[in-house]
Amino acid sequence: MAVLSAAAIQLTERPVTQPLTAVVVSRRWGVVHRLGLPPWLEVAAAVVLLDYTLFVWHVLTHRVPLLWRFHEVHHADRDVSASTALRFHFGEMVLSVPGRTAQVICVGAGPLSLSTWQIATFVAIVFHHSNAALPLALERRLCRILMTPRLHGIHHSVVADETDSNWSTIFSWPDYLHRTIRLDVPQAAIEIGAPTVEDDAARTLPDLLARPFVPAPRQPRVSTRGHVTPGDGLAA
Ligand SMILES: [Zn+2]
Repeated sequence: MAVLSAAAIQLTERPVTQPLTAVVVSRRWGVVHRLGLPPWLEVAAAVVLLDYTLFVWHVLTHRVPLLWRFHEVHHADRDVSASTALRFHFGEMVLSVPGRTAQVICVGAGPLSLSTWQIATFVAIVFHHSNAALPLALERRLCRILMTPRLHGIHHSVVADETDSNWSTIFSWPDYLHRTIRLDVPQAAIEIGAPTVEDDAARTLPDLLARPFVPAPRQPRVSTRGHVTPGDGLAA
């Protein structure tokens, strides 16, 4: 999965976004060029805005049926770990090229801003998919600023209304802004998986690669957990 995704990014995204960043800078397209910031702050603002627009894209990958067919494959993993961060269907990488192009143009991301954001995003997705058991007290503070493993684990729940939360990547503020943050789910109660993938047999590499292209039931199996009892959740 990882090799195909990396190849798809190299072949379809980089040839588009790399030259585009140079055009964006020379023509001063995008929001950050309107803010009159010093160059270093322009990079920081671009990283924050690229992170926010990726939040919007992530919501679309769940809401647009064609995009969900591909993003569902990432959620099919039954045990979130750092390697889950690499398990995206290559088709999702190809379909994200127009989205990435729009992000670069709207934000006004230059080469340095884009590469800084890409490195920060990679570190963030490996971190928030990892099974690092941070002290709960620390993570309760950290998740107010950053997307953390327990916070993102709730997004990987099989319960649909929990999947529909905690969409952020680096910083968690977009979820606070849109009131899509969920802290109240006891960690021990979370079953990891895609809300729409029923059959464990459908998780082999050939099946996962083929899944977006074949008709399959995609209705959520469990929409809501109902009453949530307090437990080892992030809500203090
Ligand atoms: Zn997702």
